[in-house]
Amino acid sequence: MGQKNIAIVGGGPSGLMAAQVLAERGHAVTVYDSMPTVARKFLLAGKSGLNITHSEPYAAFAERFGNASPRLRAALDAFTPDDVRQWAQALGTETFVGSSGRVFPEVMKASPLLRAWLRSFEGRGVKILTRHRWTGFEGNELTFYTSDGTKRVRADAMLLAVGGASYPRLGSDALWLPWLLEKGVTVSDFQPANCGFDVDWSETFRDRFAGAALKGVTATSEAGTVPGEFVVSKSGIEGSLVYAHTSALRDRLLRGQPAELLIDLAPGRTVEKLAKNLGRFDSKTSFSNRLRKGAGLEGVKASLLRELSPDAARMAPLDLAALIKALPIPLLRPRPIVEAISSAGGVAWEAIDDGYMLKALPGLFVAGEMIDWEAPTGGYLLTACFATGRAAARGIDRWLSR
Ligand SMILES: Cc1cc2nc3c(=O)[nH]c(=O)nc-3n(C[C@H](O)[C@H](O)[C@H](O)COP(=O)(O)OP(=O)(O)OC[C@H]3O[C@@H](n4cnc5c(N)ncnc54)[C@H](O)[C@@H]3O)c2cc1C
Repeated sequence: MGQKNIAIVGGGPSGLMAAQVLAERGHAVTVYDSMPTVARKFLLAGKSGLNITHSEPYAAFAERFGNASPRLRAALDAFTPDDVRQWAQALGTETFVGSSGRVFPEVMKASPLLRAWLRSFEGRGVKILTRHRWTGFEGNELTFYTSDGTKRVRADAMLLAVGGASYPRLGSDALWLPWLLEKGVTVSDFQPANCGFDVDWSETFRDRFAGAALKGVTATSEAGTVPGEFVVSKSGIEGSLVYAHTSALRDRLLRGQPAELLIDLAPGRTVEKLAKNLGRFDSKTSFSNRLRKGAGLEGVKASLLRELSPDAARMAPLDLAALIKALPIPLLRPRPIVEAISSAGGVAWEAIDDGYMLKALPGLFVAGEMIDWEAPTGGYLLTACFATGRAAARGIDRWLSR
């Protein structure tokens, strides 16, 4: 097979990874992106250290994607967390495993890696055209809005890697969703993933504790029990411990069911031990002192308990202990998708073949967060974007040589 021309729409981690693989296979690749520069979300992820993958055993890692398609699993099998680390290393970025098992670049940012990655494309047949906004289809061609007017692009194969629907200001605005629907591609509506939730805080609690972190607690929902920390926000709760439960809680709310996150404020102690300690004090001891001395709770933890259970001070020790071990935070709604770290929904797996090609549009492939899968924070998102970018690139190569 001679060199083929491939158009990739979207210069995020998935599109750039596909460009890398296709260039390695000798193809001429053009990456189109609507923004003035590529990979803005990747760079923003770098602001919090760029959690690029996770070091837990691979079987556990692969479980984090819920019951996503076996096609996602195949893509991950072919580009595992170890491969992610080796890939970064080949671009001059050494990584390390943090205390939580999450993997980060030693420099704790994304820009050196991105710079080296883009440099590696030079002289390899990869062209990047920014300020090219894909606006839909004209027959078999993709149409773009550019500063020089409209352009029509036809290539031997085309890949959409236009991201999900969170943080639209960074480029991935999901405006394409109806264009694919019109072409007969099944696409589910986007939903916020890895997002906070609104809680009906009292004004006093909000004013005093917005921004305060609850550390060393566990949170339970249908998603299981997870240790960690979360933050009280002006509107509710957010942080990695909440994100671990987003999909279970969001789906309950979507079904019209009540949703609450159960917090264990004293994970190291049993209900019986707590009840015994709390029962030691006579009625003259203030509630604050009983909580502090009997359960080690003060500050935001003690106030959260009072906020959510105004009668707590009058409870019998055993009931109070049970509440401390499973304090329900009733959730009103997920925060809007524009604030979410990532999104669920997108192109349905049944619309895609084994090579990541859209069944309804032969020659057009998809990769990354625009496909319907979700995972918690912890490096899972980037790993899956890289892996699906590679899988789509292999799919394109196979399809072109058919
Ligand atoms: C604040 C924040 C922190 C994060 N931190 C982490 C982290 O630490 N670890 C982790 O694993 N994940 C993290 N993520 C998630 C991760 O960044 C994304 O899952 C990932 O970037 C998605 O990659 P993608 O290539 O599919 O899409 P994107 O990165 O969204 O890239 C899509 C590209 O397509 C372009 N595009 C969109 N529409 C068009 C169009 N019509 N025409 C032309 N171009 C278009 C966009 O401009 C963009 O450049 C974070 C996300 C956020 C918002």
